[in-house]
Amino acid sequence: MIFLDAAATTPVRREVIEAMWPYLTNQFGNPSSHHELGERAARALADAREKAAAVLGCRAGELVFTSGGTEADNLALKGIALARRAADPRRTRVVISAIEHPAVAASAGHLRRVHGFTVEVVPVDADALVSPDAFAGMLDGGAPAGASDVAVASVMYANNEVGTVQDIPALAAVARGRGIPFHTDAVQAAGWLPLDVRALGVDALSVSGHKLGAPKGVGLLYVRGGVPLEPLVHGGGQERGARSGTENVAFAVALATALELSGDALETAGRVSALRDAFIDDVLDRVPGAVLTGHRTRRLPSVASFTLPGTSGESVLLELERQSVVCSSGSACAAGSDEPSPVLTAMGIRREDAQTALRFSFGAFITEEELVTAATELAAAVVRVGALRA
Ligand code: PLP
Repeated sequence: MIFLDAAATTPVRREVIEAMWPYLTNQFGNPSSHHELGERAARALADAREKAAAVLGCRAGELVFTSGGTEADNLALKGIALARRAADPRRTRVVISAIEHPAVAASAGHLRRVHGFTVEVVPVDADALVSPDAFAGMLDGGAPAGASDVAVASVMYANNEVGTVQDIPALAAVARGRGIPFHTDAVQAAGWLPLDVRALGVDALSVSGHKLGAPKGVGLLYVRGGVPLEPLVHGGGQERGARSGTENVAFAVALATALELSGDALETAGRVSALRDAFIDDVLDRVPGAVLTGHRTRRLPSVASFTLPGTSGESVLLELERQSVVCSSGSACAAGSDEPSPVLTAMGIRREDAQTALRFSFGAFITEEELVTAATELAAAVVRVGALRA
């Protein structure tokens, strides 16, 4: 099988399994217990937090381990917006981009429906880029200078469907200049792009384990010290009160190990980007009518995405799977829906063309040979599907 769906998920790396194994078996202590077994678990958790903090360039106390990217996004949006408004009741607006993952978009929707916030959506251009000027205009809205009414703003680092990478330092600077907390969903960026939160200038950043060789069901949220956060899960006060519940020590160790190992992937990013570009050229050459989606160069090393106007994305996907090439039609997270992707329509792609979208996403170990085979099989699959539809 040629697996070209790494943006949906990745297998757990052997080194990660080895690192977490003791905490699932003989070192099974609860970090809150006051005996040796518990203290060992607490030390492992603290060590994992330190390691993850080293990768993100932050303090260990600025990290909250979560059950994944979705929970990290929920905690960022709701936790910051609710705390900010509690401190300053004028802060009633939430600003997000038009291409956010549902974990961010639906959290903003919840803040609107249940908590009475106003949600504003910054548009993107045809390449899925957010313009810092448009972002600034939306943040300023109708508020008098020096008195922002925005509780939190969120723009994703790299898009999961088309791979476009935003200029996060520029966007974060726009928000910082106005005293507005800025969150970025770095779930797809992790493992491929620098995650140094100080260099990015962000106040909050989400990561998910299963996109970078840790298990599904673990993630983390960075929240800059001093940014108030209202917890969503209450109980025993773990994670410094930000997220109660007995900590998943084994998975925290797994995520920290995967993040450390992903230092290698940053080096691989150059090699994989070159393979991606060759694959894009190959597909555009061989498949008549194929259109690249997302920015040509400001994109994840690991994502090549296209629309195939006039054909059916779903049929081509099934045809490719018969030839053992696995990819995705848009985003796995929105699977099961017949609606065209909101990301693609926000980029101005027609609904009928959006329904023909295919995404090929690569792991760090992808080879040129696999991508040449995939492009050849894609061209053949489009012809076969076309013949069936004719
Ligand atoms: N954000 C983005 C950009 C994603 O691609 C995903 C997963 O597909 C998530 C958030 C959700 O992460 P998780 O699957 O860990 O809940």
